[in-house]
Amino acid sequence: MPGRRTLKIAIVGAGIGGLAAARALRLRGFDVDVYERAARLGEVGAGLQLGPNAYKVLRALGLEDAVRKAAYEPRRRVVLNWNDASPRGAGAINGDDIALYGGRYLTAHRADLHEMLRAGPPEANIHLGRACVSVATRENTAVARFADGAEVEADVVVGADGVRSIVRETLFGADQPRFTNSMCWRCVLPMSDMPTRVGPGGSVTLTPGDHLSWYGPEGQVICYPLGDGSRLNIFAGHVSDQWVEESWSTPSSRAELLAAYAGWNEALLGMFDKVADCFKWGIFDREPRAEWTVGRVTLLGDAAHPTMPNLAQGANMAIEDGYVLGRVLAGEAGVEAALARYVRERRPRTAEITLKSRENFERTRLWPPAPPLDRSWIFKFDATKEPV
Ligand SMILES: Cc1cc2nc3c(=O)[nH]c(=O)nc-3n(C[C@H](O)[C@H](O)[C@H](O)COP(=O)(O)OP(=O)(O)OC[C@H]3O[C@@H](n4cnc5c(N)ncnc54)[C@H](O)[C@@H]3O)c2cc1C
Repeated sequence: MPGRRTLKIAIVGAGIGGLAAARALRLRGFDVDVYERAARLGEVGAGLQLGPNAYKVLRALGLEDAVRKAAYEPRRRVVLNWNDASPRGAGAINGDDIALYGGRYLTAHRADLHEMLRAGPPEANIHLGRACVSVATRENTAVARFADGAEVEADVVVGADGVRSIVRETLFGADQPRFTNSMCWRCVLPMSDMPTRVGPGGSVTLTPGDHLSWYGPEGQVICYPLGDGSRLNIFAGHVSDQWVEESWSTPSSRAELLAAYAGWNEALLGMFDKVADCFKWGIFDREPRAEWTVGRVTLLGDAAHPTMPNLAQGANMAIEDGYVLGRVLAGEAGVEAALARYVRERRPRTAEITLKSRENFERTRLWPPAPPLDRSWIFKFDATKEPV
């Protein structure tokens, strides 16, 4: 805006949400610094499903070609039963639905998406090894404080520091996560380890590149290709009385994975038998937050709306958040008005997805499972457009 000073924005956390926001804000001409606790930039070795809603944002961020090159575009969804791998259903993806939703459904390696969001131009300044320990608001500015004693003052501080956000805790106090008595494993295999003949008498033919789900009374396993299709991501969710840490990097073992799925069909267990490295993660739940902002400090991504993985929307929502934050800061006359509008736009949608993720999880606990919730309202949404 003519005559307006360039806003200085400090983002805490260089995850998918922080980097998407940095790119969106840089494209709007803001002066952006990102502060990341880790000494190296990187992501956990796992996959991510990107719905058409995130695709539309990535396109608006100038990343359409990059994401299509780095991610896989599955064509078929297949759902199988846990005990004998007989088919429960199948359907097309990335056919007519591309026009319906205005975007594609892609499956990507997290590290590829992370690298794509980081790469400039326009580049943001990323400061590594900077652990934020608290934030404070001042008149017309905000401050982030770091473990080394340094302070950074900016027009806006954005807490994009994930599910255990320090920024959120400083603003609103510690939250009360509830263990859902379920956990998941994640692992990546070469695509050649995916079974291709399953079901009674080998009656079902699977094609490498299929998006595959196995439904059982106590769990659900979802497999999808990564990148050029040469790797298969496995997400294996299961009920569990055992408390498991809410961390994506707690090591597990093939034996533990196989034990949890004892009695499931041989094709699935044969695939699990090829797993060398796997990680486990406890699934926790929280109520959607009412407040995201205090003064010039706001939240984004998992810091604002930690979500169960059952609609595969956590990162999708974080990407949308970043775009909307850029749009409202560029469009509104004052920073406070822009931050208020950001929360007004983002909170209802993210709260609904958070609650529906919980509902979807509960449906998969039933046997036979209730049909998964309709996701078309999630996919049709376009964060790049002004709401009407
Ligand atoms: C197994 C699994 C499968 C999933 N599948 C999907 C899926 O298919 N689709 C989907 O959309 N979502 C999925 N999600 C959810 C998605 O991964 C998260 O919602 C997403 O990563 C949130 O991004 P974020 O940037 O907000 O947080 P994070 O990715 O957690 O990033 C936070 C960043 O902040 C840094 N940080 C933390 N504390 C500090 C501090 N004090 N100071 C400085 N830096 C700090 C961290 O090091 C990290 O880099 C899945 C999650 C899991 C665990």
